[in-house]
Amino acid sequence: QAKEVPMTKSVVLADPRGFCAGVDRAILTVQTILKAAESSGDSRADGLPPVYVRRQIVHNRHVVEELASQGAVFVQELAEIPDEAAAAGIPVVFSAHGVSPEVKHEAERRGMHVVDATCPLVGKVHREVLRFVREGYEIVYIGHKGHDEAVGVVGESPEHVHLIEHESDVESLDFTPDVKLVLLSQTTLSVDETAGTIAALKARFPWIEEPPSSDICYATSNRQAAVKLVARQSDCVVIVGSANSSNSVRLMEVAQEGLGERGRAYRVDDAGELDPSWFEDVESVGVSSGASVPDELVSGVIEALRGWGFTGIRSVETIKENMHFVLPPQVRALVR
Ligand code: SF4
Repeated sequence: QAKEVPMTKSVVLADPRGFCAGVDRAILTVQTILKAAESSGDSRADGLPPVYVRRQIVHNRHVVEELASQGAVFVQELAEIPDEAAAAGIPVVFSAHGVSPEVKHEAERRGMHVVDATCPLVGKVHREVLRFVREGYEIVYIGHKGHDEAVGVVGESPEHVHLIEHESDVESLDFTPDVKLVLLSQTTLSVDETAGTIAALKARFPWIEEPPSSDICYATSNRQAAVKLVARQSDCVVIVGSANSSNSVRLMEVAQEGLGERGRAYRVDDAGELDPSWFEDVESVGVSSGASVPDELVSGVIEALRGWGFTGIRSVETIKENMHFVLPPQVRALVR
C-alpha cells in the first residue's frame, strides 16, 4: 500500500519585488548627504540637522525611521524649516513622489538648497502635463486624490488637469468634441483597473489621446505581473508594504483578484503584523513587496512563515530588471 507523503508547506516568492530604481535613488540621495556630513566631521554647533526631507522620502515607515535615526529630519511642509537652515546651506530633499511648482517656488523664494529626488518617471509625467497644456489640451489624469504624486502633477496646471480616480468617475466629466483631450496617469496604478477606466474614457470621448508610452511605470507593471502569477499558485498572499504606499496597496488588490474566492491577500508593514491564524489550512503562501520596501522586511516575513512550518521556498520570476537612475547632480558632486 502506498504511503502518503506529507506535503511541504511552502512560500512562493514573487520576483521582481521590492525596491525600484526611483526608490533606490531617493534613499541613496539622503544617505549620501548624511554620509558626507558625517565624514566632514561637521558637528553643528547651531543645532541644525545635516539634511531636511520634505514628506516621506518613499512611502515606507521603516525606511523613514532608519534615515531619521541617522539624523535626517522629515517635515511635512517647508514652513517647518527655519530660515537659519537655508542661510546655513542645509540641503532640503524633495521626495521620490515629486512636488508641485508651488513648493519649488517657495523653496526658491526662501533661498533653500534643494536636492530634488523626484523619480525621473514621475518627472516625465510632470513634463507631459506642461507640454500638453502648452499645446492647448485638457488633461484627464487618473490618480489617487491626495496622494503626494497626484498633488504634485495636478499642481502643474490645476485648471487644465482633471483628476479622476475610478471608472465610475468618467461620467462626471464633460467635454465637447472641439476640446483637445489627452489622458495621463499616476505611475503606481493597477494596470488592469486603469485599462477599464481608459476603455470607459475612450467610449465617452473617442477622440481622447494617450501619451506615447504608458505613465504606469515599469516597476509597477512588473511587480503586478509577478504577483498575479504568484497568486495563481498560492492559497493566500502576503504583501509587505506600508498602508500609504500606493503600489503596495495595488499589489494587494491584484493578488486578491488572482486568488479570487480561494483565499485572502494581506498587507503588512513587517513580520510583526502577521497573524498565524491567516495560515491555518494553507499549503502555500505567496509573498511580494512594494517598490519602497527593503528586502530585509521580506526576509523577516519568510522567517516567521518558516517558523509556522512553511519550510519550502521557491521563486516565480517573470522578468529581470536592470533599470538604474543616476543620482541628482548635487549628490553626484558629493560622491566625487
Ligand atoms: Fe519611480 Fe515607479 Fe519607483 Fe515610483 S514606483 S519611484 S515611478 S520607478
